[in-house]
Amino acid sequence: MGKLVIVGTVAFDAIETPFGKTDKILGGAATFIGLAASQFKVDSTVVSVVGGDFPQEYLDLLSDRNIDISGIEIVKDGKTFFWSGKYHNDMNSRDTLVTELNTLADFNPIVPDTYKDAEVVMLGNLHPSVQMSVLNQMDKKPKLVVLDTMNFWMDSALDELLETIKHIDVITINDEEARQLTGEYSLVVAARKIHEMGPKYVVIKKGEHGALLFHDDNIFYAPALPLEEVFDPTGAGDTFAGGFSGFLARTNNFSFENMKQAVIYGSALASFCVEKFGTQRMVNLKADEVKKRLKQFQDLTQFEIKLT
Ligand code: AMP
Repeated sequence: MGKLVIVGTVAFDAIETPFGKTDKILGGAATFIGLAASQFKVDSTVVSVVGGDFPQEYLDLLSDRNIDISGIEIVKDGKTFFWSGKYHNDMNSRDTLVTELNTLADFNPIVPDTYKDAEVVMLGNLHPSVQMSVLNQMDKKPKLVVLDTMNFWMDSALDELLETIKHIDVITINDEEARQLTGEYSLVVAARKIHEMGPKYVVIKKGEHGALLFHDDNIFYAPALPLEEVFDPTGAGDTFAGGFSGFLARTNNFSFENMKQAVIYGSALASFCVEKFGTQRMVNLKADEVKKRLKQFQDLTQFEIKLT
């Protein structure tokens, strides 16, 4: 089993969906990634920053799941990153209403010494220079570096993002963002262009339409599980990334074949995330529920066909 370094936001989110509205609740890319990866019982750390307004019980929630939190800086007189979003009726698209960087604005990440030899680094969504700084602190080149990002950083820090992308192995990005990054509508062409920017593997997430994994000329597709009720999609992409990187850290095998499995694990975990508001579903998720859902994925996609 390998060690996993996770960097990303630990945040307050306020969410509005057709089903309801929340006040500030626990959110953040690194929170969702950490919770998903904890399903694999990997040795992980979260590198992030919060303000003095961040409740201790939220930090405990992470450490109770054996996530090392010594890399979460607490700025006593600062405020925690805050994001607010509103989903459209189709639940597949959303508008960002507020992004307050707060303590994130001048955050200098510090990777705990005991994790500088980690095999896997998951660069969750935040400023690409912070992602790069985490990578630069590693003692040796990690076996796998995965990066997730979003349109916010393409709009505000594109040069830094393009620089960071040169140094990673896998990018996870949604379809709209892949199109924005490359200016290409076809996701196949977009993936090829992203390959040329650096990453050997490109994962394009398509919300309720599943995820595509590209490597050279190979493409693998994993559907999303058709669910009766999608309550809140927030964090689904990060949960996918946490499942993907957590599984790869657990198995310490970075072949294309194993990455296909990682995509399935990521998709299965993301299918739970959307069932309740915020982190609620992930916090209470049990291993046997995950196992059952993996079986559903298998039944959904396996078929035999006679090719004559
Ligand atoms: P997802 O739904 O997977 O795209 O991720 C939603 C999470 O990303 C929320 O919990 C937010 O706190 C966090 N988030 C939103 N905007 C940003 C941003 N610009 N940088 C980092 N994290 C963000």
